[in-house]
Amino acid sequence: MLDFVDLEADLDEEERLIRDTAREFVAEQVKPDIGDHFEEGTFPTDLIPEMGELGFYAPNLEGYGSPNVSETAYGLLMQELEAGDSGLRSMASVQGALVMYPIRAYGSEAQKEEWLPVLGEGEAVGCFGLTEPEHGSNPAGMETYAERDGSGYVLNGSKTWITNAPIADLAVVWARDRSSEGEGDDPVRGFLVETDRDGVTTNEIDGKLSMRASITGEIGLHDVHVPEENVLPGVSGMKGPLSCLTQARYGIAWGAVGAARDCFEQAREYALEREQFGGPIGRFQLQQEKLAEMATQITLAQLLAYRLADLKERGDLRPQHVSMAKRNNVRTAREQSKVAREMLGGNGITTDYSPMRHMANMETVYTYEGTHDIHTLILGEELTGLQAYR
Ligand SMILES: Cc1cc2nc3c(=O)[nH]c(=O)nc-3n(C[C@H](O)[C@H](O)[C@H](O)COP(=O)(O)OP(=O)(O)OC[C@H]3O[C@@H](n4cnc5c(N)ncnc54)[C@H](O)[C@@H]3O)c2cc1C
Repeated sequence: MLDFVDLEADLDEEERLIRDTAREFVAEQVKPDIGDHFEEGTFPTDLIPEMGELGFYAPNLEGYGSPNVSETAYGLLMQELEAGDSGLRSMASVQGALVMYPIRAYGSEAQKEEWLPVLGEGEAVGCFGLTEPEHGSNPAGMETYAERDGSGYVLNGSKTWITNAPIADLAVVWARDRSSEGEGDDPVRGFLVETDRDGVTTNEIDGKLSMRASITGEIGLHDVHVPEENVLPGVSGMKGPLSCLTQARYGIAWGAVGAARDCFEQAREYALEREQFGGPIGRFQLQQEKLAEMATQITLAQLLAYRLADLKERGDLRPQHVSMAKRNNVRTAREQSKVAREMLGGNGITTDYSPMRHMANMETVYTYEGTHDIHTLILGEELTGLQAYR
């Protein structure tokens, strides 16, 4: 596997073990069927508990069954999963960074005890409801709201493009609390909504041409009653959802490297096997230039991901660092998957080979968790002190 500047040399035993476990899992359990799942538009749901048993959901959290592994180990895990398919990494990112993380960071003791062990083991599936039909890049405009009703709240609104919604047991729903007094205008709060509550619908979105091996849906909330105990008590305002996104984007910055690396490995292998004009196509300078550029760009993305892990480990990681890495590494994977596809000629357009599947997936990864444009604006603001969103 491509590791041109020997980053592996600095890994400790636990990090190697986690990486190797995920790599083996992907090779044995994912790669053989993932092309079929992509074609059929299905997620291999039978793998959900197995991924839990292997500790793939939020192992970087501490307590309630999570072992608190290093941020590098967590990143390597995301890298290996996305080398299999972005749908698989999305499953682990949503479950870990977008559902378990807010419960761990902002939940009550009872919420932690009820949900973290079952989510960690993959016995329950979670989803994260932030995006709405009319509010994507600007989630602060959300219209979903909660109003006090006796001993709890009533929720109304709709969320869309929600990974795992149709198979989820629990949705972390972000909504404006209209009944909050003295906290400014209707602060955003997080609600733990069991999907079997009356008034909840979770329809699947079909017709996707990207991220096909992942289940995506809408969440409809029509007079859904949740008790007070289902509100995340520890956070109020957009900090809640945005802090979760920073965690998930960290995983994406690593994961995209895995997708790009898988494309590179496929292209290199093909270049050495495929013969034209009396020998392997890898002997042509045009093909070598593509491999050289691909290896260089992937190595740069790897370096950024490793640096992010160091910053996160020592508590110095800022959302702007994550924006730069998400933006850069996904763009790298998006561009290099196209080059790898090209090197595979006609065979490259089939699901027998991974590059075009990764290439299609990258259209989603480029768009979700903050589009490429939005991360550009975040960096622009960081560098100039001037906002350019409006
Ligand atoms: C497969 C998939 C899974 C997803 N999973 C989840 C999930 O689990 N939970 C969840 O909450 N959401 C999820 N999303 C939603 C995702 O986060 C949004 O699609 C994303 O934030 C973009 O929002 P939008 O699609 O409404 O696009 P818009 O915000 O409408 O953007 C359209 C275009 O306008 C550009 N644009 C917007 N604002 C500006 C600006 N100020 N300046 C310049 N350009 C701008 C954007 O970059 C984009 O190119 C998922 C999306 C997909 C496709």
